[in-house]
Amino acid sequence: MPGPRYRIYYMPIECTLPAPVETRGRFAAVTIRFARYNGYLGRRTKASMVQLTDSFDRKMDYLRISVTDRCNFRCQYCMPEDIQFQDKSHILTLEEILIFAEACLQLGVTKVRVTGGEPLVRRGVVWLVEQLKKLGFHDLTMTTNGFLLKENLDGLVEAGLDRINISLDTLQPEKFAFITRRNHFEKVWDAIMAALETPLSPVKINAVAMRGVNDDEIADMAKLTFEYPMHVRFIELMPLNGDTDGSRFKSLFISGKEILERAQEELGDLTEIEPDDPAAPADEFKFEGAPGTFGVITPVSEPFCARCSRLRLTADGKIHPCLLTDLDVPVKDAIRSPEPIPAIHEVLWHTARIKPPAGLTLPEESRNRTMSQIGG
Ligand code: SAM
Ligand code: SF4
Repeated sequence: MPGPRYRIYYMPIECTLPAPVETRGRFAAVTIRFARYNGYLGRRTKASMVQLTDSFDRKMDYLRISVTDRCNFRCQYCMPEDIQFQDKSHILTLEEILIFAEACLQLGVTKVRVTGGEPLVRRGVVWLVEQLKKLGFHDLTMTTNGFLLKENLDGLVEAGLDRINISLDTLQPEKFAFITRRNHFEKVWDAIMAALETPLSPVKINAVAMRGVNDDEIADMAKLTFEYPMHVRFIELMPLNGDTDGSRFKSLFISGKEILERAQEELGDLTEIEPDDPAAPADEFKFEGAPGTFGVITPVSEPFCARCSRLRLTADGKIHPCLLTDLDVPVKDAIRSPEPIPAIHEVLWHTARIKPPAGLTLPEESRNRTMSQIGG
C-alpha cells in the first residue's frame, strides 16, 4: 500500500501574495521543482483559479479516472470473454494518477469519478479515494459492478467517497449470469442492500437497456424506486466493443424515450425532476410516492454533447476528451516528466482545444474500443 503523500498548493505566476512554502520528507524535491515553475508555492484560492474550458466554451470540470482496464466480469456489451488486458507495466501507478488529478484540480476540475474496468479490483483503490478527497475534490464518486463492494464499503465511506453508482442490468440471477458471464447476482444484490445502510445511500443503479434481453424488466427495475431510496437509470446501449458493423447494436438498441413510455404504461405518470447539476447526463423522473427516482441516460438518441464537461483518464495514461470518438491524447510522459504539473497542464489545454463539439453516435460509427478501456 502506498504511503501518505504530501499535498502541494499552487498560485499561478500572476498572483502577487506569496504564501508559505511547505516542504516535507521525500516529496520536498518535487515540491521545489514545482516551486520553480510557479515562481513560488502558495495556497490556491478560488480567485486565482484558471478554469479549463474547451474551444466551444464548455467548462471542463469533471474527471473520470479509469484506475484499471481489468475486470472480474465480462459483460457482453463491454468486453469479450477472452479480452487481452494491458501489461501491468503500462498502467499508471496510483501516485501518478494523483499527480494528474492534482493538475486537473488546479485548472478547476472539481468533480472526479473513479471507474474502470472494475475499480475495486485495483489494489490500493480505497487509499486512492482517500487521497483524492484530501486533495479537495468537491464531488468524489465511484462506478462499480458491486462484486467487491460489500467488503470495501466501510473503507470507502471512511475515505470520503461521496456517492456510488452500481451497475445492475437485471433482477433475474440467470439473466445476470448471461449478461455478465459470471454467476454473481446474489453477491451484487447483497452489496446494494448493504450500501443502502451507509451514508452512500441513496445509491444510483445503472442498467444498460437491451431489447429482447432486459426490456421486459423495465417496470420491475422501476418498481425498486418505490421500495428503496434508489436512483434507477437505464443507459442507452452504445456501439462499442468491436461491434464494427453496428449489427449487434441495431438489434439490441432501445431508446430512452421508449423506456420512459413503457415504464409509465405499467406504473403511472412520471414527474420530471430538475437536475442539481445542469451537466448531469441523466433525465430524472419520479413516480408519485416513490422515495427513489427513475431516469434514462441517452447518449445515442439525445447526445448531451452541448453540456459535456468530461475528461477521461485511461489506466494506461491517455486522456479521452470524448467517449464517442477515437481521439486520445497521451499524458503518461508528461506525468513522468521532471516537471509534471506544467507538462500535464500543457496536455490538458491541448486536449481542451481539440475536444470535438459532438461525438459520432450513429451505429455506422461503431467503435472497436471497449468501455472498460476508456473508463465508462
Ligand atoms: N465495472 C464498473 C461497472 O460496470 O459499473 C465500472 C466500469 S463500466 C465500463 C461503467 C459503466 O459503463 C457501467 O455502468 C456499464 O454498464 C457501462 N457500459 C459499458 N459498456 C457499455 C455500452 N456498450 N453501452 C452503454 N453502457 C456501457
Ligand atoms: Fe466489467 Fe463494468 Fe465492463 Fe461489466 S461493464 S465488463 S463490470 S467493466
